[in-house]
Amino acid sequence: MSQAADKEQFTFQTEIKQLLHLLSHSLYQNREITIRELVSNASDALDKMRFIQLNEEEYRDEAALEIVLKPDEEERVLSIVDNGNGLTHDELVENLGTIAHSGSLEFLNKLSGDAQADLSLIGQFGVGFYSAFMLADRVEVLTRSYRDETGWRWESDGTGSFSIEPAEESLPRGTCVRLHLKEGHEEFTREERLKYIIRKHSSFVPHPIKLGDEQLNEQRAIWSEPKSQLNDEDYDSFYQYLTHRADEKPLWRLHLSADSPIQFHALIYCPETNLESMGFGRVEHGMHLCAKRILVQDDCRELVPEYLRFLYGIVDSADLPLNVSRQALQDDTVFRKIRKVLIKRVLDHLAKMAADQTDEYLRFYEQFGTILREGVSTDFENREKIAKLMRFQSSEVNEGENPTSLDEYLERAGDDQKQIYYLGGADLAAIRKNPNLEIFRKKNLEVLYLADPIDEIMLSNLHTYREKQLTSIDAADVEFPQTEDSDSGETDATDQSESADATTPGFEKVVNLFKQALGEDVEDVRASKRLTDSPVCLVNPEGSMSTQMQKMLQMTTKDFQMSKRILEINPSAPLIKRLGDLSGNADHDDFIRQCARQLFANAMLLEGLPPNVEEVVNRTQSFMSELAEKRSPIIT
Ligand code: ADP
Repeated sequence: MSQAADKEQFTFQTEIKQLLHLLSHSLYQNREITIRELVSNASDALDKMRFIQLNEEEYRDEAALEIVLKPDEEERVLSIVDNGNGLTHDELVENLGTIAHSGSLEFLNKLSGDAQADLSLIGQFGVGFYSAFMLADRVEVLTRSYRDETGWRWESDGTGSFSIEPAEESLPRGTCVRLHLKEGHEEFTREERLKYIIRKHSSFVPHPIKLGDEQLNEQRAIWSEPKSQLNDEDYDSFYQYLTHRADEKPLWRLHLSADSPIQFHALIYCPETNLESMGFGRVEHGMHLCAKRILVQDDCRELVPEYLRFLYGIVDSADLPLNVSRQALQDDTVFRKIRKVLIKRVLDHLAKMAADQTDEYLRFYEQFGTILREGVSTDFENREKIAKLMRFQSSEVNEGENPTSLDEYLERAGDDQKQIYYLGGADLAAIRKNPNLEIFRKKNLEVLYLADPIDEIMLSNLHTYREKQLTSIDAADVEFPQTEDSDSGETDATDQSESADATTPGFEKVVNLFKQALGEDVEDVRASKRLTDSPVCLVNPEGSMSTQMQKMLQMTTKDFQMSKRILEINPSAPLIKRLGDLSGNADHDDFIRQCARQLFANAMLLEGLPPNVEEVVNRTQSFMSELAEKRSPIIT
């Protein structure tokens, strides 16, 4: 076989072609990050090799695991060399030819015209290696896997394809990435420049990074250093190292050290922005797990529950087993205890922040509240603690004021108020218009406004908070506190036995005509004690879900039927009174029935539910014709 026949050609996955085009043409200035990405890959390869050596004796040797930078000014080449696990032929094809992480694909699909901002996120989405083409117009990868006798040479000019062939020379274990620097990028062969870049971006890399004999990085493990010896700058630069977000500061951090019953150090950060809400996938490589400074897992999702998945950090415990599988780790008692302490400390930290640093807390909540609140449904043990951290709009919160917590709500509520009231709706404006609120306004009872349906799901899942029942005010079984100074005669909205209709002439007849007109469209028609101004409103029978929840289910579940509701009529509304008067004359029965259908349609519309459009249009037109008939063209 000839030499040429050994050389295989491959085309990059389409997405990579797009990415490469973008990387090599972008105006993005911060080309230092290429070095950071390649050093980070080399460090990962060393971690993997260390893990392999720990578990398999045959691969152990005396050589120190390290990264070496080899600049060649004359040739304009920079090589980044590691003696890590190396890559086999198939790994080369797979890892340096496709984008394995779905996050990267989403990232690409989201790219806006502002390439500069977009590219600052590059490192987080596993496009690390390809950033080589920001600096180089030709990249060679010489690599030999610890399992192979011979090595491979991968090469590409970063346009559409790459080649793989057996390496001519015999290669040491590990990987050498050779960057043939573009014209104008000679600086990346200058020693001073390289020293500066490594100290700035890669100081915390846990393996030695060498230039000649000189080690450039400090390999600090700041999580195990005493807090008193660390300053904000130390913490911030470690955050930037962990997240690959140059120049960003975390929203908050938590540095924990415990000695008993389990020894561990943890350093946890909350990032500034919620990338998930920007449409990116969930954070990868958020939590790192170490045992005595040695990395055990670099994407240890199990360390914190899903509802804290936005956190970055590192946890290090001498009590952890070093060489166990993911599955075995999850079942490890030490691991489980650490996890429990972490959750507690993070929730306590948030509670303290909410109390002492309201503005910071609200900034956090605005970003991550939507993720955090998932815990109310998933973490039974901590659900009340998490509910305490939620914030809401309410009838007592004016525009521009801070949202309220459930505790603040309860402070304002009287002791005799047994329920926490809430109302869901499409948005705040729609909620404020809901007639169900009238009696709450009159009685001065606070109602939480839930414009986000998920909040409503959370509260209905929670069911009670500090022994008060969470109740949607469009439910038939809303209870009002029985205070002495409450309006006379108004006791309980559900108490239908003592009717308020006695004083309204013809009211009973009106109710009957309404029942006839609405028939099967409603569960019942009855007098209301919750309305003060509006003529009618719709409420949900006891035990059925709130309107907003049902609306949501209707959107997401095929064939979901909304439950029938109760139409409540306000006996003291002028229109209803007038209908009562008219009901004495049977000639008006049909008109009253027409009014019933229109009022029902109006109530539906107010809640954003579609009425029978054709019917409504026909009826309003005939009402208008009737009114127009009664008007005179003569000017009086
Ligand atoms: P990421 O590092 O986020 O996985 P990259 O595109 O930077 O994404 O690298 C792709 C894959 O190529 C890595 O996951 C790793 O398996 C492999 N790889 C890259 N650099 C090296 C290296 N120096 N040694 C061994 N494997 C490497």
